[in-house]
Amino acid sequence: MSNTELAGTVNVCGGESSELPVLERIESRPVVLTPRTWDETDGRDVDPAEQVHRYLPTKGRRMVGAWCFLDLFGPSDVSAGHGMQIAPHPHCGLQTVTWLLAGNVRHRDSLGSDQLIEPGQLNLMTAGHGIAHAENSPAGHGPALHGVQLWVALPGPERERLPGFAHHHTLPAVELPGIRGVVLLGELAGIASPATAYTPIVGADLELAALSRGAVPVRPEWEYAVLVIDGDATVAGSGFTSTDMVYLGCGRSELELSSHAGARLLLLGGAPFEEEIVMWWNFVARSHDEIAAARSEWTSGDRFGVVEYDGSVIPAPPLPPVTLRPRGRS
Ligand code: MN
Repeated sequence: MSNTELAGTVNVCGGESSELPVLERIESRPVVLTPRTWDETDGRDVDPAEQVHRYLPTKGRRMVGAWCFLDLFGPSDVSAGHGMQIAPHPHCGLQTVTWLLAGNVRHRDSLGSDQLIEPGQLNLMTAGHGIAHAENSPAGHGPALHGVQLWVALPGPERERLPGFAHHHTLPAVELPGIRGVVLLGELAGIASPATAYTPIVGADLELAALSRGAVPVRPEWEYAVLVIDGDATVAGSGFTSTDMVYLGCGRSELELSSHAGARLLLLGGAPFEEEIVMWWNFVARSHDEIAAARSEWTSGDRFGVVEYDGSVIPAPPLPPVTLRPRGRS
């Protein structure tokens, strides 16, 4: 994903963490990834998949552990349109995690990676000092597109590391009474993902059958959030429905989940991120000067490399007319 919320929008990561268990709704907002195209004859929206729901960062919630960005896209019928078409753009200081529920996406990056991702597989791109990538629905793509993309802030000692890309064809399954799941990043109930993380973190896709009930073990010192991707779920005693997200704070040792009609949930958690961060456009850094340098180097064609791509890259938006300031947990 590329962040298209442009000039003047100052996204500051490093939000308040609750040391106590809470239930706070995280409101998403619609974001248009690229200008929409319309069918001239009937006004039909040709590329509905280009609008996403952004849950992180929001005004009320900047991070959950090191998770600092969450877009939910679809479910969309992309049979008549182009689907996802995100031209080359840069990242630094973060990892991108792509997880699909339906459809497929072609990832290309400046390391030369060219990888089709499908449901059940994980793409993990570690930007480190700098990388560029493009994300496109491939030619002949399927009719549906549904998935999430997340960003993970890299901690100080790792954020300048060399970039890398990993594709995981299969991920380990978690089987708990009433709950089945897949561990995307980190470890849950003793099951560890092979994907490389640099902070204490977990991400898991959990599935509850109709009329099922269960609990997942969590760590009291970590904060958590749950996105209801599909269906209905009772999370820690409160009911939620499809596309709801709830922040849970810290302080629990298990998280009770149940569902009437069945549910698909995304569980995110991690140790509260202690560093102050500046997040602007597609960069995570620690100061205005670092952001300005990254922007300048993308514009001059340095640092981030070149993606083999038929088309132009996404230009960096202008810096806002204020000094970007890092903000920590309040
Ligand atoms: Mn991206």
